[in-house]
Amino acid sequence: MSNISENLERISERISAACERAGRKRESVELIAVSKTKPVSDIREAMRLGISCFGENRVQELRQKTAEIPEKLHWHMIGVLQKNKVKYLPGMVEMIHSVDSLGLAQEIEKECKKHGISMDVLCEVNVGREESKGGVLPEELPGFLSEAVKLPHLCIRGLMTVAPIASEAEESRPIFRSLRELLESMNREIPALSMDQLSMGMSGDFEVAIEEGATLVRIGSAIFGDRHYS
Ligand SMILES: *Cc1c(COP(=O)(O)O)cnc(C)c1O
Repeated sequence: MSNISENLERISERISAACERAGRKRESVELIAVSKTKPVSDIREAMRLGISCFGENRVQELRQKTAEIPEKLHWHMIGVLQKNKVKYLPGMVEMIHSVDSLGLAQEIEKECKKHGISMDVLCEVNVGREESKGGVLPEELPGFLSEAVKLPHLCIRGLMTVAPIASEAEESRPIFRSLRELLESMNREIPALSMDQLSMGMSGDFEVAIEEGATLVRIGSAIFGDRHYS
């Protein structure tokens, strides 16, 4: 067996076990295979093993990979997104996880309106309040969401966060719990919202995220191996 195949098997078992511990159905958690920096051949191998959801963090790379792989896949944009790149995404990605400003939300609205389609989006929240990270701060969330929810070509499906780097997965638990609590309180406060997606958990902490309610886990290196940036 290749590494990717072994890795996927192990991750699938760990996802199932985490769901069981949390009393959740396995189908309530979707695995997004984060293929950034990895070659199309790796994606093809994961496809052969039954994976159809892939995450990328750069528009340029998404465009190249979707051009090389004509098969219908579920692509997720998970990285920092510049407004001038939004125009490439309608029809290409299924969901944008990294919406963190009204300006960006309005740009997505404008481009999706042109195509007459609606885009599933998540609002990225900087739960850990890190200077280096994007995302709206928790206290900015009510203001942001009450405006973004008015944009007719956006469907706000939920919230996303990247936990601060930690040596132990348990350290991320309070971050994930806060994100779930924010989703619940925003749904209560803003009647037009009915968010049901929590994108949280990566290679190092996805089990804890599932225990805290993640519906989308974004896993890269545990599937495809370490990334090498040149
Ligand atoms: C790269 C990346 C991931 C995957 O990280 P791994 O630790 O390799 O699993 C998840 N989410 C985002 C936003 C990323 O940029």
